Amino acid sequence: MNGNTEQGVAGQEEISVAGGEERMFRMICNTSSSAILYYNFQSGLVKTLANWKSFFDIEVKNEEDFEKIYGCVEKQYVFSLRELLHAECRGLAGDSMVAALKGSHIWVECEAVVKYDGEGRPVEKVIRFKDITKFKYQDEELAYLAYHDVLTGLYNRNYFVRHLGSFIQRASESRKKVAVMFLDIDDFRKINDVLGIIVGDEVVQQFGQFLGTFRGGETIVSRFNSDVYCMGIYDPPDDPWEERSVEGIYRAIRERLRKPFIISSGQELMISVSVGVAEYPEAAKDAMELVNCAEIVMFKAKSGGKNAIQYFKVPILDDFLQNASIENKLKEAAFHENFVMYFQPQYRVRDGKLRGAEALIRWKDDDGNMISPSVFIPIAEKNGAIVPIGDWVIEESIRIYAGWKKKYSSSLILSINVSAIQYKREDFVGKLTDTLEKYGVKPEEVELEITESVLIEDFEEVTDKLLVLKDYGFKISLDDFGTGYSSLSYLKGLPIDTLKIDKSFIDTVISDYNTRIITESIIHMVKRLGYETVAEGVETKEQYAYLKSMECDIIQGYFLSRPIPPEQVEELLERVDDRRNCAGNVLLC
Ligand code: C2E
Ligand code: CA
Ligand code: CA
Repeated sequence: MNGNTEQGVAGQEEISVAGGEERMFRMICNTSSSAILYYNFQSGLVKTLANWKSFFDIEVKNEEDFEKIYGCVEKQYVFSLRELLHAECRGLAGDSMVAALKGSHIWVECEAVVKYDGEGRPVEKVIRFKDITKFKYQDEELAYLAYHDVLTGLYNRNYFVRHLGSFIQRASESRKKVAVMFLDIDDFRKINDVLGIIVGDEVVQQFGQFLGTFRGGETIVSRFNSDVYCMGIYDPPDDPWEERSVEGIYRAIRERLRKPFIISSGQELMISVSVGVAEYPEAAKDAMELVNCAEIVMFKAKSGGKNAIQYFKVPILDDFLQNASIENKLKEAAFHENFVMYFQPQYRVRDGKLRGAEALIRWKDDDGNMISPSVFIPIAEKNGAIVPIGDWVIEESIRIYAGWKKKYSSSLILSINVSAIQYKREDFVGKLTDTLEKYGVKPEEVELEITESVLIEDFEEVTDKLLVLKDYGFKISLDDFGTGYSSLSYLKGLPIDTLKIDKSFIDTVISDYNTRIITESIIHMVKRLGYETVAEGVETKEQYAYLKSMECDIIQGYFLSRPIPPEQVEELLERVDDRRNCAGNVLLC
């Protein structure tokens, strides 16, 4: 309904009507759910009509009685209501307003309609009070939903970031700090997968409600999504023993997580969280950036073993940005243009002859930068790019190897690194044997290098698969031995041919007595088990001489040769063929 109209209420010209019209008028009034107040400016007549009694328990008979109406609404609405009731001219006051009735939860909308005479003087006025409680609460509910997370009652992400923005604004004016704690429940997916999403939701809800206890006193808490929460603390105390400090909050969270959450089914569930912390102005100047920084360092806490807190540090951010950029570049890398295969020769200590070569991938990105495989292979393993990259490595190295075979008589062993993800794939063996067939290479000529991480996941399954590969005739080499969960006991019975002692042992084998003892034991034990040992990363003459004296079988390292492009391997093979000198003898004499 419009506010002021020249028409009066419900099209009635007069308050007193006669006959059939009066009946109609009464009917309209009686069925109306609103309360109506009529006021005649000229006669001073005041009348209350329609559903007046259900709104107001007062009688209003003249203008003075208006005071009684003001007494019926909450204090903060009295002024506006007075304006509305007394405004005689259009434009003097608002045409409608909303007020809460005193002592009840009823909201009313008050609407004023004034009728003027030909000279623009007010003649009569009708005020209608309409119950809008239902709509008011619907609005409030919508507003609540717009700002809150339904499951936990915490702020939602959008509202949190807005609020954090206002913290930062204030902090910039008063030179204060704002801390953001980014929390993520560890292994939440496992809870969902194993116990179901209902249980997952309960955990999220209970933990969220616990975090909610930190709210207030300029600390805001939100659930971002799934099992991710964020807290914003304005001007956090530096003293780590203060409750409101980041350390204090983290301490309280750890304390809570020592006890299980009890799910409605009665199940008890323990959880842990990884937390990233970033502070304005050190980490970022803007709310969203600050949250991102906290998230990035949270990932660092996760990758460091979870159940930990990680504070913002610039190198963590730099690493993350570099990895993100590598990840993007990896997606676009065209194999034939960006990747090449290098090969690092391996020599037999016994006779100094070339035993084989390890295929090592090299990547030149579009800007011409060389990116090390130790940087991009772990990223590729995480984002799945290792599968096409691994396929390409197998195809390309076998293709190059087949070319050598055709040209030169000496038989080499081609070592190929296989990552755990490739190895686990169903089609791995099929693809490998297809490629060998395509290029006329025998499995006996190929050695697959796997790391311990492949073994630890499911020892029996992996062993079975290794046996299948061995049946085909492939050689198997255990790479980076000594760096991971190496246990000499599991070596027994493993279907491997070669064990590569990691460079970290070779680095200190001369200078450190303990390393020497361990290395010697490895070499001797491996010999007894019937495997061959490869020492990799041999850089000096002393290391070489020592390993030779220990009867290590094969040596690989910069001392003998760096990884080289295929053409340089061809030069080595040519020399072997010419029988002038074997490459090993030249180098080793
Ligand atoms: P890795 O399999 O342990 O390979 C040996 C690494 O040690 C190679 O680094 C090699 O260049 C380096 N190296 C060999 N001798 C010496 C030495 O005397 N001194 C020093 N300082 N380094 C030496 P690269 O080529 O950078 O490869 C690093 C890692 O990247 C490899 O470690 C391997 O885990 C991975 N990688 C490389 N190529 C492939 C591939 O084609 N597929 C897979 N899945 N991983 C690969
Ligand atoms: Ca290797
Ligand atoms: Ca290695």
